Parts: sequence; C-alpha cells; structure tokens
Amino acid sequence: MKENQKKLYRCNECGLHYRSETIAIKCEKWCKENKSCNLEIIKYSIESRQSREEVNSLDHHQKERP
Ligand SMILES: [Zn+2]
Repeated sequence: MKENQKKLYRCNECGLHYRSETIAIKCEKWCKENKSCNLEIIKYSIESRQSREEVNSLDHHQKERP
C-alpha cells in the first residue's frame, strides 16, 4: 500500500489524527489540560475532514424525487 507512506500524528488523549505534528501536540496539550476537545483544533483532524467530505459526496448523490 502506497498510502502508508503518509505520516500522520495522533493525539494520545482523544485519538484523532493530524497531518501536522504541531497541531497534534496542541491538541494533546489541550485535551490533557481541559479534558475536552477544542473545536478550533479538531477541525484540522483527518477524522473531521473525512466526515465533511462524506457529507459533500452525500449531497452529490441526492436526487430529486418526483
Ligand atoms: Zn486531542
């Protein structure tokens, strides 16, 4: 699998994945200190990006019914 070459950084607290190490570290710090997730940070996670793409593709498949 060529996809494996992509490096992802994981927050050990909430388990979300990021492409940027800086953001993953920010997330982990925030999660430890606040025991919750920061929406401003988790919106950069792979998981939240994927779900946004799913919503877009769902929109695409929607057809008007007679
Ligand atoms: Zn986190």
